[in-house]
Amino acid sequence: QKPQPRDAAIAHSFTPKSIGRLAREVGLFSEEVEPYGTTRAKVRLEALNRLKTQPNGKYLVVTGITPTPLGEGTTTTTLGLAQALGAHLHVNSFACVRQPSRGSNFGVKGGAVGGGYCQVIPMEEVSLHLTSDTQAVMAASSLVVDTINARVLCESTQSDKVIKNIILLSGYVASEMMAVLALSTSLGDMTRRLARMVVAYSRKGKPVTTEDLGISGVLATLMRDAVKPSLMQTVEGTPVFVHTCPLSDIAQGNSSILADQIALKLVGPEGFVVTEAEGGAELGMEKFFDIKCRSSGLHPDVVVMVASVPALKMHGGGPAVTAGSAMPKEYSAENLTLLENGCNHLKRQLENARAFGLPVVVAINTFSTDTDAELGLVCEQAKLAGALEAVPCSHWAEGGAGAVALGQAVQRAAETPHQINFLYDLEMPIDDKIRVIAKSMYGADDVELLPQAQQKVALFSKQGLGNLPICMAKTHLSLSHDPERKGVPTGFTLPIRDIHANLGAGFLYPLVGTVSTGAVTHSYELLSVTHMNADLEHDMEY
Ligand code: ADP
Ligand code: MG
Repeated sequence: QKPQPRDAAIAHSFTPKSIGRLAREVGLFSEEVEPYGTTRAKVRLEALNRLKTQPNGKYLVVTGITPTPLGEGTTTTTLGLAQALGAHLHVNSFACVRQPSRGSNFGVKGGAVGGGYCQVIPMEEVSLHLTSDTQAVMAASSLVVDTINARVLCESTQSDKVIKNIILLSGYVASEMMAVLALSTSLGDMTRRLARMVVAYSRKGKPVTTEDLGISGVLATLMRDAVKPSLMQTVEGTPVFVHTCPLSDIAQGNSSILADQIALKLVGPEGFVVTEAEGGAELGMEKFFDIKCRSSGLHPDVVVMVASVPALKMHGGGPAVTAGSAMPKEYSAENLTLLENGCNHLKRQLENARAFGLPVVVAINTFSTDTDAELGLVCEQAKLAGALEAVPCSHWAEGGAGAVALGQAVQRAAETPHQINFLYDLEMPIDDKIRVIAKSMYGADDVELLPQAQQKVALFSKQGLGNLPICMAKTHLSLSHDPERKGVPTGFTLPIRDIHANLGAGFLYPLVGTVSTGAVTHSYELLSVTHMNADLEHDMEY
């Protein structure tokens, strides 16, 4: 068997249709489309207004088991399912994914969105500047930082120290703005959210918002194009919205509400929108429901849980893989013992998914090394754990044709009666909400709020912020707070180091773990430096 060409070679072998044609096919009017070049366009929010009486399509959320370096392919499966529904089952379909965040992971995944025969094209456009939303966010956060800077220079004699502090704050402001962008439901909503963002504290500890600084209107102007979703297509010509990239730890890690809303109108009541929730189900999917769906009021119909045989083997105790060295044989040869162990992890994530009340379909993203016995075992275990159906699919190698059975399973699942449950009531005390997530999603025995976190619970409750949803800043590499613990960690207490508020997005984010670890190091460092310099921030006089 010939090896499959690399993602970039596959992406380059397809020619995208013109953006004008794609926009017409999905039912957009030409005045609702702002082309950027010939293969991407921003979609004006007026389209949502025109379609407001149109019933929504079916809404599918794709999540996965806890990510491993062996790959699960949630983005690939999101696109493959949309291709199967649109190009092979001939119903309207749309995929909604996050824009890849450049920076720390630049180049690591080869720059593609998706993989194999399920990718967004043109690859360079989607991977790099796209339609400049990230640049708008950076410009807006620089404006915040420069304004604080100027203010402090006027009011403080310690300007050198203060400038240092504020430069470090800038990444943090950008993250908050991206979270705002992804949760906004209109231009007005975005404007109000930007205005209430707290970006500094006065010497007396009073929060200072962008409105207090007199720049909220300018921020909204800078971001007015970024709030419009960008339309592109997959290699099979299926429409895709690529919009926003909120971080998956200190933010909600899901693509934008507006992209999902517009897509749900465009596909019509018989159509399907497939949206991706990043990270494992305990993290990205929980935030999808408790934060994103609560804000949007949209009710999903089916959860698709992506798993792969190699990744499950790693959760079952398989050896670590290191870049550059040969793949351990456990992953390339049949090993039913490791796999059966690993299925406990799948079962745990299935319980997590089922807690939200919706039908769950398992998509097994097949790798060329999987055996029939292995695929059979995963299907059997998934059904035992309450999956409505479990379907091996080969979309990475075959495009949408390889996910037709998954598409049909999802069509059947969408017809079953269902009612969405949120995990917690917003009225619950802050620490109880954190405890519910930790115990029911992560399997923790309890949570331990360290002194800093306890003070914040008291402070936020006093400030009337106790009713906000919770956005856990936890590693995505384990169900627990320790990225090394695969499978189903038990017997642990979840430490909460501190809690921050993102008032623009409208959530509190507890920092999980006592030390900076793994993938969240970057954001954690940013936050702790911000915190260390809190007394400098207090130099601002209000
Ligand atoms: P995720 O969204 O889970 O992070 P992606 O869908 O972005 O994962 O895929 C990550 C990488 O794994 C891509 O380079 C993709 O080509 C590769 N990949 C996905 N599915 C398969 C598969 N079935 N076989 C081999 N490689 C795959
Ligand atoms: Mg992904």
